[in-house]
Amino acid sequence: KEKTLAIIKPDGFSGNYTGEIKRLILLSGFSILKEKIVHLDKENVALFYAEHSERTFFPSLVKYMTSGPVVVIVLEKVNAIADWRALIGPTDAQKAKITHPDSVRALCGLNSERNCVHGSDSPQSAAKEISFFFGEMFSS
Ligand code: ATP
Repeated sequence: KEKTLAIIKPDGFSGNYTGEIKRLILLSGFSILKEKIVHLDKENVALFYAEHSERTFFPSLVKYMTSGPVVVIVLEKVNAIADWRALIGPTDAQKAKITHPDSVRALCGLNSERNCVHGSDSPQSAAKEISFFFGEMFSS
């Protein structure tokens, strides 16, 4: 089996979508191995999204991701990484509503920034992201 990291972003959490998202997760055959609520600070987001630090949308992304608590979840199933990415749908939630109406981002996302959930995109990033949130370094 494979593990991946899911995040219910601030808009998902504040919009009370956590229960519905977890229902979809379990319905789709994932096990929830670990789960916690954290409020990220600017430094956490800069580390987590380091690959995007030079993008024009980065300051706005930091503001969004620090705007409220998030739920970080370790999911497990066969093919968890690709299957969770498929379940959440495309980055742009507006597009998701048209092309992937049953996806999580269609359900609770707003646009290409406020897209409600995250999913690791490779085995390398899954391992890195899981230890980022559940390793010894991260305390909050
Ligand atoms: P995530 O990494 O959160 O699962 P993703 O892999 O679908 O999302 P990335 O391209 O890695 O998308 O972008 C990371 C996050 O940065 C997006 O989820 C979104 O919140 C934000 N983002 C991406 N593209 C844009 C954009 N063009 N404008 C504003 N915000 C964006």
